Amino acid sequence: MPLPSPPDLGLSPEQELLRATVREFARRDVAPRAKAIDAAQTFPTESWGQAAELGLLGATAPAEYGGAGLGLAELCIVGEELAAACLSTAATVLHQADMVVGRIARHGSAEQKERWLPGLIDGSVIGCLAMTEPEAGSDVMSMRTRAERSGGGWRLDGTKTFITNGPVADLALVYARTGGAEERRLGLFAVPTDAPGFARGRKFSKMGWRGSPTGELVLDGCEVGDEALLGGPDEGRAILLAGLDSERVLMAAESVGVAQGALEVALDYARERRQFGRPIGEFQLIGGKLADMYTETEAARALTWTALARVEAEASGSRELASAAKLMGGDVAMRVTTEAVQVLGGYGYIDEFPVERYMRDAKLMQIGGGTAEIQRFIIARGLLA
Ligand SMILES: Cc1cc2nc3c(=O)[nH]c(=O)nc-3n(C[C@H](O)[C@H](O)[C@H](O)COP(=O)(O)OP(=O)(O)OC[C@H]3O[C@@H](n4cnc5c(N)ncnc54)[C@H](O)[C@@H]3O)c2cc1C
Repeated sequence: MPLPSPPDLGLSPEQELLRATVREFARRDVAPRAKAIDAAQTFPTESWGQAAELGLLGATAPAEYGGAGLGLAELCIVGEELAAACLSTAATVLHQADMVVGRIARHGSAEQKERWLPGLIDGSVIGCLAMTEPEAGSDVMSMRTRAERSGGGWRLDGTKTFITNGPVADLALVYARTGGAEERRLGLFAVPTDAPGFARGRKFSKMGWRGSPTGELVLDGCEVGDEALLGGPDEGRAILLAGLDSERVLMAAESVGVAQGALEVALDYARERRQFGRPIGEFQLIGGKLADMYTETEAARALTWTALARVEAEASGSRELASAAKLMGGDVAMRVTTEAVQVLGGYGYIDEFPVERYMRDAKLMQIGGGTAEIQRFIIARGLLA
């Protein structure tokens, strides 16, 4: 049985069609593969190819490079629908579409766009974006990876960690210091992963997001030409900051999706499962949980779309609102998926139902893309300014 209609988000007919198309893809193709890619911790190869065919990898890229020319709202729709089936697949697709394609489309030169966008959009090139380092996580500006002038290009040295798609990427967008240790100068470099001096480090075994490979990248005298630099040698910091709001709104949308997916499983189960001669949904304690899960999911969705509108309009306060949406989305995803496991009882704890996977996947939404604590810090700083 369908849920009550979601609130009117003011979607255009084209956006409604996109939602229906991605929902069908997610439920028909992505969901049945989710358990296997989670168990094997493998990249979602089949869904990746289909996502490329549907135009999702290049959703926001300009049409002249093979993109669909859509906006952040459409990418939120894609993220929410995919995450309701499999958060790993949603993360893999959005990482490419926003963090890699989006950055090159917004900040790359015509030559860089021509070189990289067609392959990234048709899925033949897998990209990753590397900020985090073993000693620089929340405090990302303390990164140590250096880029120094070498001949006609640059020489990169350093280690990046926790990089989504790192173990499988063909192209890494790497942030590196272009100034001295005390300077806050960063450059962003498009580094082919077969460049001399580039190596992959460990691939991590994870609690959740297991169908989204995560690993280390090692740059040891990695030589790239001038053509690898996106923007100028000092523009990396501005590029990094410019991408944060949209990334947070997208993570909020994915969080809403995983909460929605868990709620739907819990509702179906509460209707069917009988104890003490009645469907468990008729027990007030279970009904109350379902009501809270629904309420929190809708509240997180509403805040996500409010933040999205603010970010798209580049209006004042968009930074705090994007952080608020990510914070609430992550916390709601964690609570709703945990409650879904509780509603299913012992069946929630085994992998015959997807809710234990949803719960493991949801935890990352409070950590990745800036932790919940860092979001609170950003919101408070903005309010107090
Ligand atoms: C599966 C996965 C995928 C990822 N993908 C990518 C990727 O593609 N690219 C990339 O660059 N990075 C990626 N990351 C890294 C992610 O962004 C970082 O893990 C995150 O920003 C936190 O950094 P950290 O892990 O070093 O934790 P730390 O910064 O060491 O934080 C540890 C704890 O201290 C708290 N803390 C830190 N500073 C403060 C403070 N000022 N006030 C209060 N509390 C504080 C944190 O909230 C946290 O609870 C990924 C991580 C994971 C796990």
